[in-house]
Parts: sequence; C-alpha cells; structure tokens
Amino acid sequence: MNVPLLDLNAQYASILPKIKQEIEKVFDSHHYILGPQVKEFEKMAANYCECKHTIGCASGTDALVLALKALDIKEDDEVITTTFTFFATAGAISRVGAIPVFVDILPDTFNLNPEKIEKAITSKTKAIIAVHLFGQPAEMDKIMQIAQKHNLKVIEDNAQGIGARFDGKVAGTIGDIGTLSFFPSKNLGAMGDAGMCLTNSDDLATKLFQLRVHGENPRYFHKWVGLNSRIDTIQAAVLKIKLPYLEKWSEKRRQNAKYYYENMTNIPQIKLPFIHEKAISIYNQFTLLAEKRDELLKFLRKNNVGCAVYYPKPLHVQECFANLGYKSGDLPIAEEIAQKVISIPIYSELTENMQDFVIKKIQEFYEN
Ligand SMILES: *Cc1c(COP(=O)(O)O)cnc(C)c1O
Repeated sequence: MNVPLLDLNAQYASILPKIKQEIEKVFDSHHYILGPQVKEFEKMAANYCECKHTIGCASGTDALVLALKALDIKEDDEVITTTFTFFATAGAISRVGAIPVFVDILPDTFNLNPEKIEKAITSKTKAIIAVHLFGQPAEMDKIMQIAQKHNLKVIEDNAQGIGARFDGKVAGTIGDIGTLSFFPSKNLGAMGDAGMCLTNSDDLATKLFQLRVHGENPRYFHKWVGLNSRIDTIQAAVLKIKLPYLEKWSEKRRQNAKYYYENMTNIPQIKLPFIHEKAISIYNQFTLLAEKRDELLKFLRKNNVGCAVYYPKPLHVQECFANLGYKSGDLPIAEEIAQKVISIPIYSELTENMQDFVIKKIQEFYEN
C-alpha cells in the first residue's frame, strides 16, 4: 500500500470535466483579467464565509500584503505575530517595511499564546496577525480583547482555515481583515496561485479593491501605491466549481481525524492534535507530536506513508530575520515543538484501510 500526504488525483477525479467546461468558457470569452467568474466566485466565497466583502487576489501572501497596506501599516510600525507559521505571515510584514514582533505559541494547539501578546506591545505596535494554524482558529476572543484594549488592528491569516470556526464565528471574519490562500494543497485549492481578503468593513473593502489594481480610482488616477494582484479569471473558474464541495471535504477530514483519535490510541510516544473547546478545525493538517520525530519521518517515508514537517524552524531564528536580534531560546515552546511535529495524511479521500496502514506503520516504528 501507498498512502500519500495528499492525493489531488483522487480529489479531481469526479469534478475535472466540470472544471474543464468552466475554463473553456474563459477561453471563449478571452476575459482573463477580472472576468465574470471572479465576481461569481467572490460572491460564493462571501456567502460561504458569512462575510460582507471578499476581494480575490493573486495569492495568500499578496492577501496579507494587501491587508497590511489597507490598514496603513508601514515603515517602522510593529506587527505582533506567531513565530510558528508559514513564512509568508512574517514575510508580508517585512514587505510593507514594518517589523515583525514574534510571540511564542501554546504547546497544545500550536497557536499564538494570547498571554504573551501584551508584553510584546510597544508604542510602535499597530497590529496583530493571528494565524489559524493547521485549520484550527487561534483564541480570537482573547486576541480581540487585547487588540481593543490597546487600539490595535487585527488581521487573521486564515490561509489554512477556510470554513473553520471559533465560538461559532467563521475564521477570517472576526478581525478587521481575514486572508485566504488557494494554494493547491489548502483545503480549497486552485490550479495555481490564488488568494483572497475578507472583511465586513465597507471602507476597507473599497480600499482593498483599489489596492489590487495599483491603488487606482478612477482608471489611471492613483490614490495609493498598490499592487498588481488580481485573482486570475481561470483560477476563479476552477474555484467556483470546487467551492460547493468544500464543506463535504472538510467534514470528511473531521471524520478521518475522529478515526485517528479512536484508533491511534496506545502509542505513548505520540500526542494527537488538541482542539480547543470553542474551535471547529478543518484539519488542513493532522499534526502529531512524536518522540524520535526525524527517525519516524524517515521510517514512514520508506514505508510509503506520506508525511512532512510543518515547520522545522520557527521564524524568529530564520537567517533573514537575524537583524531583528532574536536568539535561540527566546521562544522556547515553538523551538521545542518544531523538533517534534510531524503531519500525516488526513485528506478527504483517505479510506479506513489507508488510515489503518498509517497507524500500523507508526506502531511498528515504536515497537522496534
Ligand atoms: C499557504 C500560506 C500562506 C501563503 O499563501 P500563498 O497562497 O502560498 O501565497 C500564508 N500563510 C499561511 C499560514 C499559509 O499556510
């Protein structure tokens, strides 16, 4: 048996003909930039995310840059975020000239530790970027409270959490702006790069729509220095066909998670993911804490079980941020977690047989 970490073939098998049809409509119209499928998909996504405005853009990374620009974050402003996330979260802060200020995580959910935020606030702090890691929302109730108290903006990097919820609210719609990524391995993946901003504010939506076309309004009159960052019509066409399946896919991931919880017991060297009582995860990843992680990784790969380490090195100790002056040991929880995490297959089309195989191989590793 062979169980990959993700199998896009299985996902596309039944829907590819519909996608090809929709893409052909784009070819027929040659309306490649901001064609009708863009508005259609934006409307559907707004509906799905229970959010007033959705602004499609070129990637999840650009969505973060657009969000920061819309909130007027610029040179020398400080933005607080988690050190344990995909690089883009902090990269976007640097890209607008601001300074990422890294905070440690909770050892169980791997999300931003709200208790650590206040100590990181200075007179230069303008915003917090919360990340909903692996599909589980961060503790948005506490984060919003701190932001309100200190008059800070909140961006939710929801690249991994489309459709997740915290306290009943859809992730990405709780702060000022939420961002989505449609990178192919996310729960809703395009056939290339694509992203989106979510907001309930009319003013921020207007600004975001302008920023994605060089800050112009009207045409050739530039109010801001924006980006060229639209979602391609072809990607919107793909996503428009896929979105109606998303809830079913995420529900299947939750069922797969449940199967692991019920059947991967009795391996003391493994800790299964912890989900906060107020959170509903979409399980973009199913991430274990494992003893002898690196050896387990090698063993599973040799035995045809797909797995990966997200992420092997927290951001505060990355070479490109050396100028910020952090050193090893500054954010110890994230540094320890980075040594232990391993993500195993959780995608919707997994069968119980395949999950049994994954469990058996992990058991085998620790028995020897
Ligand atoms: C994927 C991801 C991004 C970036 O998305 P792209 O579409 O690849 O630019 C940003 N933040 C997080 C947490 C991600 O997982």
